[in-house]
Amino acid sequence: MTTREEMLETIRRYGVVDERVLAVLAGVDRAKFIAKEWKGVAYEDRPIPIGHEQTISQPYTVARMIELLVQSAKFIVQSSKVLEIGTGSGWQTGILAKLFAQVYSVEVIPELAERAGEILGKLKVQNAKLKVGDGKEGWRDFAPYDGIICGANAQEAPRAWVQQLSEGGRIVVPVQEVMTRGTKVKGEMKWESFEKYMFVPLV
Ligand code: SAH
Repeated sequence: MTTREEMLETIRRYGVVDERVLAVLAGVDRAKFIAKEWKGVAYEDRPIPIGHEQTISQPYTVARMIELLVQSAKFIVQSSKVLEIGTGSGWQTGILAKLFAQVYSVEVIPELAERAGEILGKLKVQNAKLKVGDGKEGWRDFAPYDGIICGANAQEAPRAWVQQLSEGGRIVVPVQEVMTRGTKVKGEMKWESFEKYMFVPLV
């Protein structure tokens, strides 16, 4: 059985270097976010079904996306507010909650949002707020966000996200299967492209 340490080793080998990200990734038990029959492979570096045709993300991908989000001296994680699109199992939500002051997460499938909320509640995560809805609209009530991170493949970054992003803030989202990062500089978005990934679609 793959251990948590082995999971971290794999992620390091793939090139993730941010120790803040690696530390919190190991600190939130992935096994708690999946069904019993999958517990044996909880720490394997692969997505795992969570029902409703969705998956808990591959650990490396979660690490890489969060690293892209916080990769800048300007990004003071402890005081930042982040919006997550696609709560899924809630695993990444729990990780973000350890890194950021406040996490807001939107999930379109009510059953998944409910289950994620229960698990995060059991783990006493108090700085994550969940809602059911279309993440393409962001979450206006708590904008602006320092970071927006989306775990589903988008056709393009929705305009609402750009509007709800603070100056200097960042969006990390797979756009047409290419990991993409946008940074808001003087009100304008600067876009960068990274590796290719497979994701479930942003519906
Ligand atoms: N990072 C999560 C998994 C994300 S999978 C984890 O580790 O568990 C992507 C999730 O995005 C799925 O749960 C899917 O239902 C959700 N999703 C897809 N389109 C969405 C939309 N328009 N708004 C909100 N959530 C969406």
